[in-house]
Amino acid sequence: MARTLPGPLSPSVAVVGGGVVGSTVALELARSGADVTLFDAEIAAGSSGRAAGICYDAFAGQLDSEIAAQALATFRERDALTARPYVWLAREGDDRNADAMAEHVPRMQERGGDVAFLEPEALSERWPALRTDDVERAAIARDAGYADTAAYTRETAQLAVGAGADLRTGARVAVGPEPTVDGEAYDAVVVAAGAHTAPLLADAGYPIPVKAYRVQAFQSAATPLAERVPILYDATGGYYLRPDDGRLFVGDGTVPEEHDPDDWDRSADGWFRENCAEYLEAAVGEAVPEHRSWAGLCTATPDGDPLVGERTPGLYVASGFQGHGFMRAPAIGERLADAVLGGERIDAFDPNRFDDDEDFEIVEGMALDEN
Ligand SMILES: Cc1cc2nc3c(=O)[nH]c(=O)nc-3n(C[C@H](O)[C@H](O)[C@H](O)COP(=O)(O)OP(=O)(O)OC[C@H]3O[C@@H](n4cnc5c(N)ncnc54)[C@H](O)[C@@H]3O)c2cc1C
Repeated sequence: MARTLPGPLSPSVAVVGGGVVGSTVALELARSGADVTLFDAEIAAGSSGRAAGICYDAFAGQLDSEIAAQALATFRERDALTARPYVWLAREGDDRNADAMAEHVPRMQERGGDVAFLEPEALSERWPALRTDDVERAAIARDAGYADTAAYTRETAQLAVGAGADLRTGARVAVGPEPTVDGEAYDAVVVAAGAHTAPLLADAGYPIPVKAYRVQAFQSAATPLAERVPILYDATGGYYLRPDDGRLFVGDGTVPEEHDPDDWDRSADGWFRENCAEYLEAAVGEAVPEHRSWAGLCTATPDGDPLVGERTPGLYVASGFQGHGFMRAPAIGERLADAVLGGERIDAFDPNRFDDDEDFEIVEGMALDEN
């Protein structure tokens, strides 16, 4: 829980962006007694309304695993998770990913994650619908599940209102450096506007190296297979799937190119929808027809870690979550609220750790060697 600033009794804080991150920051600040205003055109209208909501603690790095564990605890307290183990695997011939797993799993265990290697026989015994004949290496994280991301985000914004936040929806706002929102001054402004964070900060005169890229999602027709699969990440095939209320949810169809957050295609590409038939054949031995599909934006940074913290005095930022923003939001939101109120910063995520003109390639967030 964030602590209260020893400054103004009730500092005024504007939070720009009512996705899962901004809503969580607003909630934690309001709970700590700050005078919070949360701005968005529409709550959960961005990536938080389009995501798969997969959550796990299978991270090899100390900070990532602490954040994941803290977030899972909050999701559980809120009764927001459908529990289902997270299984990831590399298939025969894919030495790069098999080696990455061999290196990472012991480190995840050292961090306290309930993670283990799984023999292909054990995998197929537990999840008979999965194709395991060519699995080279597999691992399971038992502390995992998935959430309805739009519902969770809206509920979080409502909890923020219940804790005293003023919610202003209906229009996008502009951010100024002093810091201001639409010309109105605040003690602090937090910009958690997803893919729009970088343009908003650039307009305020404080650019950040965050690029938006498209990822895609496919929801199958109803199928009994949904009850017989874990959450699966096939590192060799480059896709994931999870059950989805009697259907299968398949991703990720990354297009690693920078996209204009105001001009991008919200529908899934033909190639991705076709690939989903192949992914499903590889995963469960049969293609399942499409129910619907769509695209969304994720945000990339030069080193794959997000930018969370103070960009310039009073102006805070939270973006660049590389496709892992939902699962980390409860912990990131709580820690950022704490930093705004004078508490500890997350040094590793310092938004000023790059050069102003830093250029970089977009690397997809789920790749195993990036964990
Ligand atoms: C298909 C897909 C699958 C994904 N799967 C997962 C997953 O399984 N697990 C996981 O952890 N993550 C996943 N992600 C990533 C996750 O969705 C994001 O990391 C997370 O939702 C980011 O939340 P956010 O609050 O930072 O941004 P967003 O949810 O994008 O919210 C930003 C908000 O800012 C608002 N905004 C923008 N400009 C302005 C302005 N000028 N004024 C006011 N408001 C503004 C927008 O309307 C929006 O509501 C997935 C993403 C996609 C697209």
